[in-house]
Amino acid sequence: MEESESSRSVSVFVFSLLNNKDKNTHRSTVVCKGDCSCGDDYNGETVRNLAVRIAEHSNRAHTSEPVKHLRDHPSHSFTWRVLSAAQTFHKRRIVEGLMIQQLRPTLNKQVTSYVSKLFPSGIT
Ligand SMILES: [Zn+2]
Repeated sequence: MEESESSRSVSVFVFSLLNNKDKNTHRSTVVCKGDCSCGDDYNGETVRNLAVRIAEHSNRAHTSEPVKHLRDHPSHSFTWRVLSAAQTFHKRRIVEGLMIQQLRPTLNKQVTSYVSKLFPSGIT
């Protein structure tokens, strides 16, 4: 089967990320945000190399929300950026939760976050 234009552009994008020497893409503990070309977005946190995680989000064998979105809309593509670096699991979960609450990314299913479990009456 011939590779579609969109999956080729995703591959080129991932390849360019993996070869990107910018330190931002090599932070190991980060909260990141992906903006789709259609306007949808996704927040995630990872302890692993961001470039590897982004490659997973773009790899159709994985089942993350961005991958499902790209499978449903093959012509779309994501642009990823680091929102915040956090050194511990709890900090990352809190930062991710705050980002999700604040930014309301359209592709995050779990909008009731870790933060709303920690602070059920909200943060003022
Ligand atoms: Zn999209």
